[in-house]
Amino acid sequence: TATAPEFDTTIHRRKTRPVRVGDVIIGGGYPVVVQSMINEDTLDIDGSVAGIRRLHEIGCEIVRVTVPSMAHAKALAEIKEKLAKTYKPVPLVADVHHNGMKIALEVAQHVDKVRINPGLYVFEKPKSDRLEYTQGEFDEIGDKIRETLKPLVLSLKEQNKAMRIGVNHGSLAERMLFSYGDTPQGMVESALEFLKICESLDFRNLVISMKASRVPVMLAAYRLMVKRMDELGMDYPLHLGVTEAGDGEYGRIKSTAGIATLLADGIGDTIRVSLTEAPEKEIPVCYSILQALGMRKTMVEYVACPSCGRTLFNLEDVLHKVREATKHLTGLDIAVMGCIVNGPGEMADADYGYVGKQAGYIALYRGRDEIKRVPEDQGVEELINLIKADGRWVEP
Ligand code: SF4
Repeated sequence: TATAPEFDTTIHRRKTRPVRVGDVIIGGGYPVVVQSMINEDTLDIDGSVAGIRRLHEIGCEIVRVTVPSMAHAKALAEIKEKLAKTYKPVPLVADVHHNGMKIALEVAQHVDKVRINPGLYVFEKPKSDRLEYTQGEFDEIGDKIRETLKPLVLSLKEQNKAMRIGVNHGSLAERMLFSYGDTPQGMVESALEFLKICESLDFRNLVISMKASRVPVMLAAYRLMVKRMDELGMDYPLHLGVTEAGDGEYGRIKSTAGIATLLADGIGDTIRVSLTEAPEKEIPVCYSILQALGMRKTMVEYVACPSCGRTLFNLEDVLHKVREATKHLTGLDIAVMGCIVNGPGEMADADYGYVGKQAGYIALYRGRDEIKRVPEDQGVEELINLIKADGRWVEP
């Protein structure tokens, strides 16, 4: 039976078509895919292979590389071959930053998805003397874009590969800027123009992104895109990200504010957290967002109280010890609580609880049941013993 809306805590994802990228599927109800981008020079074959492998080994499911020249496009043939020989095939995406179609056509032979930025397909002559385009001029430029894009679209279609139409707030084409301003609407119209061209060529292996460095702009752009796609009967999956989020704590919070807000509304099929740090640092942030939203469970979920004057032991220390001892176990919820003042229900129905009971003693819980009391200095060890006795322990 369906859950009454007031009791429904599930995130209902927008229905999207499945788009295959190598052995990974974006959309179609599949788990939200985690991706990132290496920062090695693509011409450095060994460095790139190592970078891609490093990311893939820690859970980056799709890896993007930049392709600024024909030499870079050709290097990808070697990178792909070397990966397959020394590691395994990894779903790869090439970022093509301009309308140099020869480069895009070359790289489409070697990767699983090509990312293009509509804002860089520029056919306009500078029109600083006039502030709008006539419909005729608009259409004429649209026809030129179609002709330029067509060989790439047909090549990807023939190979059953994918394309991301990746709009960036910071790089909208001039006529979009003149017609819609520097707005979410300009971003959406920019994506729709390319989507319609692809559809007219019967190509639908498409993923869309609407990135901006300001979270409110990014949120508005994705939401408007979804609204417009719904009106047009389009079901393309979305790639979420906040560009240039920066580094450290604020970079993570800013990315999470943008990505998680949309995911919680059911919008988004693949995510990238863009940090000004080593790309490896992005992957745990992606998985933490997905875990916090209950969308993918890839690690132990720790429930811990913030501690207060009633706390009966050093909560920070104990949480750290419990985490170090159990972080390799997936699928468990473990609560560490300073006291039981509000009852075991406060532990959010964790599988196991470590709770301060009286000075020098802690109680171990399985679900809501107290199993035993042990001296505090044996707490972590006894917790492990309890998990072992339940057959839920694996050696690290
Ligand atoms: Fe304080 Fe107990 Fe609440 Fe922890 S669970 S914050 S120790 S009252």
